Amino acid sequence: MSISKSFSKKNIENCHFSTLSIHAGCEPDPVTGSILTPIYQTATYVQEAIGQHKGYTYSRSSNPTVSALEKRLGLMEQVETAVCFATGMAATTTLFLSLLKSGDHIICSDVVYGGTVRLIEQVLKKFGVSASFVDTSQLENIKKTLQKNTQLIFIETPANPTLKLTDIAKVADIAHENNIPLVVDNTFLTAALQKPFELGADIVLYSTTKYIDGHNATVGGALLAKNPELTEKFYFNRNAVGSIQSPFDAWLILQGVKTLELRLLKHSENALSVAHFLENHSQVAAVTYPGLSNFSQSELANKQHINHGGMLTFEVTGGYEQAVRFMNSVKLCALAENLGAVETIITHPASMTHVPIPKEQRLAIGIADGLIRLSVGLENANDIIADLNQAFV
Ligand SMILES: *Cc1c(COP(=O)(O)O)cnc(C)c1O
Repeated sequence: MSISKSFSKKNIENCHFSTLSIHAGCEPDPVTGSILTPIYQTATYVQEAIGQHKGYTYSRSSNPTVSALEKRLGLMEQVETAVCFATGMAATTTLFLSLLKSGDHIICSDVVYGGTVRLIEQVLKKFGVSASFVDTSQLENIKKTLQKNTQLIFIETPANPTLKLTDIAKVADIAHENNIPLVVDNTFLTAALQKPFELGADIVLYSTTKYIDGHNATVGGALLAKNPELTEKFYFNRNAVGSIQSPFDAWLILQGVKTLELRLLKHSENALSVAHFLENHSQVAAVTYPGLSNFSQSELANKQHINHGGMLTFEVTGGYEQAVRFMNSVKLCALAENLGAVETIITHPASMTHVPIPKEQRLAIGIADGLIRLSVGLENANDIIADLNQAFV
């Protein structure tokens, strides 16, 4: 059988984001014409002769299904390729192992995903890396905290779960004046709604578990870098550590990501409707959503977001007790510790995700007893609102 590359008529280089999310990295299978990249469920690859192979040797190093997803996620953000991992935390771990050594210091946003804090405080510190957690929404805090041995600035914006924003472009300027790479955890908005590279970031990190998969089907992570030398380091360390994504998970994400932009725009629309409903409810003390005009960083939100995504928080007037009652009363919303999927997911940080954090510290970073986090899904917004409404009584 002689099949050449010209079998594919696609020329997607100059296409738009949603087209890339459907087509990039994926050619008709040269053997069968299958429109979807197959799941290459294999450990190894037979070599024709010593030194003669088709680019794959062992599935801890690389795998064709994972490569297809990496190519797609990369092209969606105008870089050569992404590097995909078994989980978001595996991506974060590999990032740190690739760029840091004993004696180094990092600056990290004070409100970030809990697993990131745990990795830095309870794992990385043992290896002699120190960290400062600062409110990166205030630029002076970053400048004040810079040390001679600072090797990385890590920000998450919007932050989990307070939705506090950090100005990516301004932090990038500070990082570059000091020759330090800036990493943005872009899990909450994804490149459909926020483009960190265009704002000056050097590395973008994802938990693909959330919006990129979008269907609660997999856990996964990805790292993207502007500089190909960094990408090479991520590949090297991923192989050394053994943190690659599985081909089946990559395949599921290849399907999920096709609707990324469409979903994020609808998530945003639904979240705004839900936010308006909550704003007007007598048992709600406050609603935080970057798309509301009373959002404290509205100007920055409109500057760096294309739209504001599906995550919002609200505080019930009855504190901890009412929040727990509310959580136990919802029917359509799933009480769970995930976000970013088509299903609406509801979380009560004080009794769920943030239990390990001492109460004083939790309150200090803005996580009140009655605070509820909602990952607004793609159900009809009226059905989500009806479910929330019945949970108040
Ligand atoms: C979930 C999450 C992570 C960790 O990803 P996993 O896939 O759960 O390992 C990192 N950052 C953010 C913002 C997240 O929401």
